[in-house]
Amino acid sequence: MKVAIYPGSFDPITNGHMDIVDRASKVFDKVIVAVLINGGKNPMFDLDERVELVKKSLVNNKKVEVDSFTGLLTDYIKENDVDVIVKGLRAVSDFESEFQMATMNRKLNENAETFFLTTDMKYAHLSSSLVKEVFRLGGDIEEFVSKPVLDAMIDKGVGDE
Ligand code: ADP
Repeated sequence: MKVAIYPGSFDPITNGHMDIVDRASKVFDKVIVAVLINGGKNPMFDLDERVELVKKSLVNNKKVEVDSFTGLLTDYIKENDVDVIVKGLRAVSDFESEFQMATMNRKLNENAETFFLTTDMKYAHLSSSLVKEVFRLGGDIEEFVSKPVLDAMIDKGVGDE
């Protein structure tokens, strides 16, 4: 049984994230979507909300498990018998920091291998922060996020941090 972990802040989960999870789950037996407890400086959603939205968005994928974590990813994978870290690459700009992170993780734990999936081009422009910005400015984000995320964003209201 090969277990993958897909870590991120998921503030909130977008269709780009969901595509990576769905594709990873075709390769691995289980995909743990691990929501970072520290979701950045000014998160739109708190941890419980981010976890809930990941669960609701991926409810149909039986290979998915959702968890949250803080501290070193390498410690988490050791403690939970995870085989690989999965990351998505949107553009060359993602590569540099992901390359550094993957190298550091392997230094910290020589078994910590990172597998990269390149984005489906229809999601290449998608990031959580851009979706939030478009939403705050009143743009239509329906095609970028799942229905539960869209509803939760509407509940938060435009301009609400
Ligand atoms: P973001 O970068 O959108 O704020 P996260 O920090 O939650 O999101 O990202 C977690 C992982 O998902 C990273 O590996 C990131 O490169 C990847 N990712 C985010 N959006 C996409 C996308 N549209 N297509 C492919 N991978 C993505």
